[in-house]
Amino acid sequence: MHSASRGSADGKIHDLRTVGRNVNNMREVEVVVIGAGQAGLSSAHHLRRAGFEPDRGFVVLDHSPGPGGAWQFRWPSLTYGKVHGMHALPGMELDDADPARASSEVISEYFERYERTFDLRVRRPVDVRAVREGSGGRLLVETSDGDWSARALINATGTWDRPFWPRYPGRETFRGRQLHTARYPGPEAFAGQRVVVVGGGASGTQHLLEIAPYAAATTWVTRRPPVFREGPFDEEAGRAAVALVEERVRQGLPPRSVVSVTGLPLNDAIRRGLADGVLDRRPMFERITPDGVEWADGRRVAADVILWATGFRPAVGHLAPLRLREPGGGIRVEGTRAVADPRIHLVGYGPSASTIGANRAGRAAVRDIRRLLAREEPAAA
Ligand SMILES: Cc1cc2nc3c(=O)[nH]c(=O)nc-3n(C[C@H](O)[C@H](O)[C@H](O)COP(=O)(O)OP(=O)(O)OC[C@H]3O[C@@H](n4cnc5c(N)ncnc54)[C@H](O)[C@@H]3O)c2cc1C
Repeated sequence: MHSASRGSADGKIHDLRTVGRNVNNMREVEVVVIGAGQAGLSSAHHLRRAGFEPDRGFVVLDHSPGPGGAWQFRWPSLTYGKVHGMHALPGMELDDADPARASSEVISEYFERYERTFDLRVRRPVDVRAVREGSGGRLLVETSDGDWSARALINATGTWDRPFWPRYPGRETFRGRQLHTARYPGPEAFAGQRVVVVGGGASGTQHLLEIAPYAAATTWVTRRPPVFREGPFDEEAGRAAVALVEERVRQGLPPRSVVSVTGLPLNDAIRRGLADGVLDRRPMFERITPDGVEWADGRRVAADVILWATGFRPAVGHLAPLRLREPGGGIRVEGTRAVADPRIHLVGYGPSASTIGANRAGRAAVRDIRRLLAREEPAAA
């Protein structure tokens, strides 16, 4: 199958059939993992356990500057104590983390330690620009640092790189500042300002509760009335929520976030916000004006800032050449495997877009890939 390939002492294999490509920079591995967040590191860990060697058997590519996945970019006021429940990566606990420290620091340090301990050799910053059909049934992974050829691919690129901004008329006329959760700088930056927060998810409510003590005024708008969840969120409820998202991706619909189907936990901070009016939600405005926002009935709110807490979409644009997308707009996924191409696995996508989901999906993807590549079961650990 790889008759036109030539190995070399440094472990690189130069594919002679890729005429016109950067031949000297073509490296061959069994599995390319794109992304070194929770999903990518969990996958890499299970690849190692299954006997794949770093650099030869698999490679992890990530375009961010350092370890931590998307966590490295989260705002300083999102302390470790405020995250909803961070599951440790497989095989290494995250003990004794100071809840008052920024989660961006705590988790980046933990991921760095994890990569080192398990010798995962993440290559960064390497931007994967496109994945396309290669030669001999292999996949060609084009990056900012040359090409890779692989028999299977684990896509673990998360959503952080694709903030979603809904379009509303007049957006470009607004004279104030507009920003998305992805660039939220923390509450102090809104001191004395009139802030409209758009979005009914966890980020929107957290932003409001933080900003309100600093801002001159806050207004909360959401498309649908927010759903608050009373009582504990047990495992059964969690499974039911995941099953809903799973069904969407099985049908090839764009996944919704797991949080969007679980509702917002009615914790003490939210209760206080509801009681003191900070979480007094208004329906979505009709248009944006130079000075603020306006509803269909003519009511207006003046604003200096519109903060879009409107979520993220899966960062899968680099997979476009493989034409995996269904008419429904999503990629049909069974377990973690793309239905249209069994070489491609999506981990941290749809139902596995949580730290616990990403852990499980990494293991499932590797199990499936081993079967695909007809590998032997490793000796019991
Ligand atoms: C504000 C916020 C808070 C959250 N809190 C929690 C929580 O408390 N608990 C929880 O379980 N979940 C939480 N989540 C969901 C959380 O993001 C996921 O659980 C998990 O961390 C995502 O891991 P991931 O590996 O899929 O993605 P990411 O952490 O986003 O990692 C993806 C990696 O892929 C890289 N990448 C992307 N595109 C490319 C490319 N083309 N080429 C190369 N590299 C690329 C990125 O650099 C990044 O390092 C939160 C999400 C948000 C937005």
